[in-house]
Amino acid sequence: PNFNELGLSEPILRAISDAGYTTPTPIQAKAIPQVLSGGDLLAGAQTGTGKTAGFTLPILQLLSTKPIAPSKGRPRCLMLTPTRELAAQIEESVKTYGKHLPLKSMVVFGGVSINPQINRLSRHLDILVATPGRLLDLAEQKSVDLSGVEILVLDEADRMLDMGFIRDIKKILAMLPKQRQNLLFSATFSDEIKTLADGLLHNPGFVEV
Ligand code: AMP
Repeated sequence: PNFNELGLSEPILRAISDAGYTTPTPIQAKAIPQVLSGGDLLAGAQTGTGKTAGFTLPILQLLSTKPIAPSKGRPRCLMLTPTRELAAQIEESVKTYGKHLPLKSMVVFGGVSINPQINRLSRHLDILVATPGRLLDLAEQKSVDLSGVEILVLDEADRMLDMGFIRDIKKILAMLPKQRQNLLFSATFSDEIKTLADGLLHNPGFVEV
């Protein structure tokens, strides 16, 4: 398929074209319609497959077509990823693909001072990209309000588990509203990932590349 056959809106198609992409990658062709349908998704995909756009493009569309009153420090979408490099890359992608939309994004990760992040979290934001440990710190000190999260992405879930983030992830999940859309991306499917997916996802679609 072509990007304009996947159900994406004009401002998003324009950003895709600005980025120089002509054809969706296989994971994008499969994941984008599934995410747009509003259901949960279990996706098997490695880095380099275009998975970031596979979840970011439809999420931008879902958020922009269902606008709500801006709210400070209360994101509508949370994207969790294991490392600061991945978090920074994902947020860069969110900005690139969302450049013609009025949505606001921010990234938080550990290893840098927390105060500038606290300050920036007091502004309006739609999409928060985060590593689990720093997000948990910020949430426990009430610098971010996770009660408005409509869409959760666990990116590179297998690596997050390998890095020992499961306890942090469980605490974060407990702060989210029950009614939400969940997307889980993982390169591998161990029993631990399957258990996490079983507890998190409701009648998920499954895509793999
Ligand atoms: P990812 O697997 O999400 O880390 O993406 C890998 C790389 O592929 C990134 O540099 C993207 O900018 C690029 N990319 C993603 N989707 C496409 C596409 N449809 N056409 C060409 N390049 C793409």
